[in-house]
Amino acid sequence: MEHGTILGRVFLTISTTGTPERPATDLGFLLHKHPEKAQTFSTAHGTAHVFYPEASADRCTAALLLEVDPVALVRRGKGKGRGGAPDAALAQYVNDRPYAASSLLSVAMTTVFKSALNGVCRAMPERAQEPLPLRIEVPVLPARGGAELVRKLFGPLGWTRVDAVAVPLDEQFPEWGDSRYVRLVLEGELRLADALRQMYVLLPVLDDAKHYWVAPDEVDKLLRAGEGWLADHPEQRLITSRYLSRRWGLTRLAMERLELVRLAESDDLEVESVDNAVDETTDTEEKPVPLAEQRRAAILEALRAAGASRVLDLGCGQGQLVQALLKDVRFTEIVGVDVSMRALTLASRRLKLDRMGERQAGRVTLRQGALTYTDKKLKGYDAAVLSEVIEHLDLPRLPALEYAVFGSARPQTVLVTTPNVEYNVRWETLPAGHVRHGDHRFEWTRAEFGDWAEQVAGRHGYTVTFVPVGPDDPEVGPPTQMAVFTMTTADTHPGRAGDTTKETKTA
Ligand code: SAH
Repeated sequence: MEHGTILGRVFLTISTTGTPERPATDLGFLLHKHPEKAQTFSTAHGTAHVFYPEASADRCTAALLLEVDPVALVRRGKGKGRGGAPDAALAQYVNDRPYAASSLLSVAMTTVFKSALNGVCRAMPERAQEPLPLRIEVPVLPARGGAELVRKLFGPLGWTRVDAVAVPLDEQFPEWGDSRYVRLVLEGELRLADALRQMYVLLPVLDDAKHYWVAPDEVDKLLRAGEGWLADHPEQRLITSRYLSRRWGLTRLAMERLELVRLAESDDLEVESVDNAVDETTDTEEKPVPLAEQRRAAILEALRAAGASRVLDLGCGQGQLVQALLKDVRFTEIVGVDVSMRALTLASRRLKLDRMGERQAGRVTLRQGALTYTDKKLKGYDAAVLSEVIEHLDLPRLPALEYAVFGSARPQTVLVTTPNVEYNVRWETLPAGHVRHGDHRFEWTRAEFGDWAEQVAGRHGYTVTFVPVGPDDPEVGPPTQMAVFTMTTADTHPGRAGDTTKETKTA
């Protein structure tokens, strides 16, 4: 076998090309491994070697080789594995092809390429952030699911070439068919850290036989290594579940957290643009008031009518409502919560939080948080506002938000605004059948919103009324619909503050 004989027990090679100004040997700096030195590392499962089969300004290749230590492997397998005894697959690592890239290699990478995986390079910090022309070759990749799955996993990750070819069981007897190994070649312009993180996650996923105990912190490791690519990967479920050795509780947890990442990335920074454009089409003579402003006015009015002074703005975005609330001294405590760090940063800039006087600053708090999880700190407020937030959640997640707000936080008043989809036909700038913003997961008719709101109110001991926001069209209604929930059974309802029921109760 070509690579078996030429490279011996090489598991993985990383190559780049360069020019005299940007020599390929920079790879040595980026990997923190000098091209002229062969280096040896002791890892959990054996000895890893890094060396450079070629190192010139034009082309540089680093090779990572792992010599698995069967004794260490078995010892670890006994102590930490489920059931204790090393399994058959584990024995394969010792007896079968010891040069196969595997989950063990992935573990070794964390020791050998720690800084590079983190995208850290003291010598060339900018270079570490730039894409490089990369070629990664894994001559013998154990792949449950075969070449096809390998292509599905690496295909969406920005490579220009993903070459996965099944390795025959025996070169001399092709009629014996293919082995469970694939020869993988990836080419493309990627940041080295991104490429390494993909390998770190996908090698064990393809191997599908992680040889160590999967602890809860594996979820954190997966999310860190998956940053920037896993949240949107079409095979996210398979990757997550295999990476976590099919531990469903952890898999669910990871998928939920990935959903939050996705939400945070799809920041709602242009939410007002369509609203504003549309308002120009209303036939008032004076300068039209943007819908977002009308919405804030309606919210402020409802809060005043409810006599609220301590208010939660849930999904506060860039803080426009928080800013408006601050202008009225009756609102003594204002808490803005959002999942998006970026939105919160913009909100804090808008409010000039850093330059605010102590008294004013004492009235406002911005916090990062996910509204689909209960949070004790949100209990005991007079009112909560969910302004243009619910439509950003996937429908199956809505019960979790419902419980966190109406079941756990339980403010006296809850205001929920959402687009009225019937009104979309009046938006001249909106093509038929389109939602108002790319990140809206759904938009409801008045009847749909009404049904949902009545059910929520019934389940949690609230009454609900509806207020139109914007021009109330006789046919299609207003552009924004607002539900005003008022708690009726503060002390008797089982969901009242202080109860210990879990989010899943209504899920
Ligand atoms: N309330 C503001 C912003 C609406 S945009 C306004 O009326 O203008 C929706 C906001 O909800 C975004 O800032 C988004 O980051 C936030 N969001 C969406 N899903 C969320 C979740 N599950 N938890 C917390 N915030 C969320």
